[in-house]
Amino acid sequence: MTEKYKYKCDNCGYSFYTSGPWEFYLDYEGRRKPYGSPEPISQEAKERGIYGLEADVYCLNCDKVFNIILTEFKKPISHITEMLTKKLKPKSKYTKPRKAKCPGCGESRLTIALDEDGGCYARGAKTENL
Ligand SMILES: [Zn+2]
Ligand SMILES: [Zn+2]
Repeated sequence: MTEKYKYKCDNCGYSFYTSGPWEFYLDYEGRRKPYGSPEPISQEAKERGIYGLEADVYCLNCDKVFNIILTEFKKPISHITEMLTKKLKPKSKYTKPRKAKCPGCGESRLTIALDEDGGCYARGAKTENL
């Protein structure tokens, strides 16, 4: 389910990368770490379980890529397929990915996949909102 994207403008060469969603876990000290997709990358990851999903998203407003939490589960799950088979309720402060707020400006115009035909995203060049 995870994808990596590269946006590059054909006209000026402006480019950036986004990716996600990625599974993450919190280690015993509460630090956020990549879980591995779909299998855990370490014994620690396996023991901790999947805490939620994160992504590298692009904010149109800030013209920057941010790593943000998209979803955090109430309880860690042991495999990503549980997301599809069980009705998991995210913690209330996280809703749908597209509702995620930009940590830079607080706006929600964040995106993982950009339309290649959407024009140039270089600062100042993009005039319409997505
Ligand atoms: Zn351009
Ligand atoms: Zn922003």
